[in-house]
Amino acid sequence: AADAAMYHAKTLGRNNVQFYSEELNQVVHQHLLLEASLSRAIRNGELVLGYQPKVDLRTGKVVGAEALVRWQHPVDGIIAPDIFIPVAEQTGLIIPLGDWVLDEACATLHALAAVGIEDFVIAVNLSARQLRQRRFVNRLADTLARHGVPAHRLELEVTESQLMDHPEEARDALAQLKLLGVRLSIDDFGTGYSSLSHLQKFPVDCIKIDRSFLGGGTDPDDGHEVITRAIIALGHNLKLQVIAEGVETIEQLTFLRDHDCDQMQGYYFSPALAQDGLQEMLRRDARLPM
Ligand code: C2E
Ligand code: MG
Ligand code: MG
Ligand code: MG
Repeated sequence: AADAAMYHAKTLGRNNVQFYSEELNQVVHQHLLLEASLSRAIRNGELVLGYQPKVDLRTGKVVGAEALVRWQHPVDGIIAPDIFIPVAEQTGLIIPLGDWVLDEACATLHALAAVGIEDFVIAVNLSARQLRQRRFVNRLADTLARHGVPAHRLELEVTESQLMDHPEEARDALAQLKLLGVRLSIDDFGTGYSSLSHLQKFPVDCIKIDRSFLGGGTDPDDGHEVITRAIIALGHNLKLQVIAEGVETIEQLTFLRDHDCDQMQGYYFSPALAQDGLQEMLRRDARLPM
């Protein structure tokens, strides 16, 4: 409906500047409300991070976690990032929001190190808009230093489609981050139409197979498995690690293991956990049954 209203307003609006559909008005109004309350939420500490474990498929060991932001709204309860990240990206709020996420993830890495958990990586999702910021690398270096966290324990995930919006610029920004020493991965891989020549030039460590390619894992002829296998082979040929996200079933897990995928994350093993839940899991050395 939003798109329709937008289209309507554009086509009619060309000859009629006064035109403003009621529907469009509503959409803009809701957007502004969301923007104002999100801005307040960042300042009031209403954001929280969940940590979804990432598991090594050869040892079953938890080797890292992806930080996923949630908004704990005082009235509406927990709001998922798919609702507010797009608004944050459009309004520029992604910069303070992203800074908060990076700071919080580094604080967690510091807290884990303090209890002896040091061979562990936290991955943070990064928007292209953060990547394009001037002095982003310097500011990130400051954040790591402030928490006493070595760069190699932080991973940054950028989606393939965002990288492909401005591939040359993205490559240069990633190269600077690589010099700093953080790990880099391409998120939602397979959905962003990157040409192979670009893929080879992005200085990343890992690709994450988008969960839309995993399929149910029960029908070998549905085409998903061919794509998953091809992505794993491509990644390994480029000397990259490959992780599958959104793994929900034992069939998917078995398939990934049989085809030499390096890591997995998904509800089959664990959803995102609060920081103390993650710490408890690591302390127990909980493993994926082999
Ligand atoms: P993503 O980075 O691809 O994250 C994976 C999403 O899949 C997460 O949703 C996660 O909860 C969900 N997921 C994990 N395992 C399973 C599973 O087994 N089955 C299914 N169906 N889903 C699973 P979430 O937390 O709602 O995040 C959605 C997206 O929001 C993320 O996609 C990421 O693009 C974005 N996002 C989350 N946190 C941040 C952040 O701090 N900054 C930025 N820029 N984006 C973020
Ligand atoms: Mg991600
Ligand atoms: Mg993803
Ligand atoms: Mg996604």
